Order: sequence, then structure tokens, then C-alpha cells
Amino acid sequence: MAENLKYAITRDYISKGKSRPQEKNNGITFIVAHDTGNAGSTAYANRAYFAKNVVSASAHTFIDDDVILEIIPLDEKAWHVRYVVNTDNVLFNGDANDHAIGVELCWGGSITFREAYSRYVWYIAYLCDKFKLDPESDVVAHSTLDPTRRTDPQNALNRYGVTWAEFIRDVTASYHLLDGSDVIDVIPTPPPKNVLLISYGDRGDEVKRIQNYLINAGMNLQEYGADGIFGRETELAVKKFQRLYGLSEDGIVGPITLAALKKAPKRPSSQAPVRPYPGHYVMIGDRGKDVEAIQRAVNVKPDGIFGPITRDAVRSYQSRKGLLVDGIVGPKTWNVMF
Ligand SMILES: [Zn+2]
Repeated sequence: MAENLKYAITRDYISKGKSRPQEKNNGITFIVAHDTGNAGSTAYANRAYFAKNVVSASAHTFIDDDVILEIIPLDEKAWHVRYVVNTDNVLFNGDANDHAIGVELCWGGSITFREAYSRYVWYIAYLCDKFKLDPESDVVAHSTLDPTRRTDPQNALNRYGVTWAEFIRDVTASYHLLDGSDVIDVIPTPPPKNVLLISYGDRGDEVKRIQNYLINAGMNLQEYGADGIFGRETELAVKKFQRLYGLSEDGIVGPITLAALKKAPKRPSSQAPVRPYPGHYVMIGDRGKDVEAIQRAVNVKPDGIFGPITRDAVRSYQSRKGLLVDGIVGPKTWNVMF
């Protein structure tokens, strides 16, 4: 991947609030590599979410196949690693939120991985140059800092066959190819497109439409019905819908959830829908709710981590059902399981 690339950086900051505390950081001494954990969610969709300032979480920069988008100035703190974890203090003598830039890779859905990855690699190399950091020792995975809760960015990288070591090699190569002009010549790209995001607290016809989709899909809104007010009941229904359809369970209706709602078959509220195929292979190294569901189906303790035991159990399941025995849950195996 050692190409001499150059990209524009878009600085489109969110306003002060829960996601942007607008506090100066304590000087940048390392970089934390993340992925959004949310297949198909673009840089601007993430910006729209954090711009609502509903969560005390954020990162400085979101990168997809189209844009490198800084939503928090690099001299400010962003909340991207839990303060209670201690690994950052041990490895880097300080908390990531106070000393590190958080960079999120967007992936999945219609995002072209190669394009997003090139930008991600280049941007992290650019940060190493900007803050006089060593790409081989000063870039750390979120999963290294918070191993009990996080799997990023390896979760995204591994899906596309990139290991952490290869990623660091790519960043290092890109870093050595930077010349002065790469880091000075940063042009803001055109202003953002509007991204629909409907969530708790919103009101109006669009909310009402969403509530009707939810009811149609069998999600109960028995207390308030389609009243046009996005309250707790609607939020819980959205989360339930997202869980059942294998979407990121954030209770927010963005383009992906909306598309799924529109396509969802009509169901009576008593009948829980079958678990739909998540849209990608589920295999060794994966984690999460889909893995738990698979583990239940193949009688493995459901810890949500797809390891060798789960793989072997999937293999025997496939052999019992006359499926191709590869230990990978693709659409065919999935549709027999669920
Ligand atoms: Zn992360």
C-alpha cells in the first residue's frame, strides 16, 4: 500500500456539548485507532449523531471512502477511551482522552473499504508527522487499551483481511512517503450533505412515519402509538427493531435503519421476526450479538466471541445439516439456523 497519496481534510466541527467538551487537551503523545463498529455508517452520519450532543463520547476524526472529517479540533479533548481503563496510563503515561487523537474508520455497507483504508492510513501517518510521533510505537488500537469491551479497529480491518501488524506497516510506509507539501496543503472539501437522523426528543411527521413503520414491523407502541413524539417507548422499539435486524443498536433512525424499516415485512406485534442475515460472513474472530445467536444454535456457551470451539461446533452443525463444512456462517448456513 506504499503509495504517495495526498488527501484533503475537512474540518467541520460540532458545537460545544456532551460530545465536544471544548476543553484543551494536554498535548498529543499518541494516537488511538478505532473503527465505528457500525457497518455502513459514514463519516457524516457519525458527525450528525455526535452533533446532537446526546452522548459523552466522540472522536476527533471520522474517515470513510469519501472524506477525512475532523469533528473536534485536534487541540481539544474527545471522549474516545474510558477513563477507568489503565492501559493508556501504563503504556503512554496518560489518559487517551487527554493525550491522544481518536481516529475512527467507517466501513461496511456501501463504503468502499480500500478507499476508506487508504485515507485512514494516510491520515494517521499525517498525524504522526504533525505531532512528531513514531508510527511504530505511538499508534495504539482501542482494543489494546480496553480489551474487555472493545475489538476495534481489528474488528473492521480483519474483515477485509488486514492485520494490525500490516496496518502499522502501511502507516509507517505512508509516513516515510510524506513530504512537506502533503501536510501543509490541506484543502477543506465542499460543505456537508444533510443526513437524516431521527432520535429521542424529535417530533413531527417524520417521527410519525417512523412510528408507523415500527408498528407495521410488529414493534409494540402500545402506550403512545404513532403520536409523532420520539420518546422512550419509540426509542426502545427502534432498539428492538435494530437488534432483531442485526443493525447497530443505538436507538437512532439513520439512513440504514430507515431503509430496513421501510423494507420490513408486516407482522403482528405478537410474532417476533426471524433473525435476518447480517449481510456479511460471521466467522472466527468476530464478536457480538450475532455470534451469541449462532452459539445458542450450535450449543456453545454464548459469550459472543467466535473462537475455535464455536468454529468447530459450526462445522459439525453444517455437516449434520448437509451444508458446506467450512466453519463460517454465510447466508446459507444462517438461513438454516434461524
Ligand atoms: Zn473505539
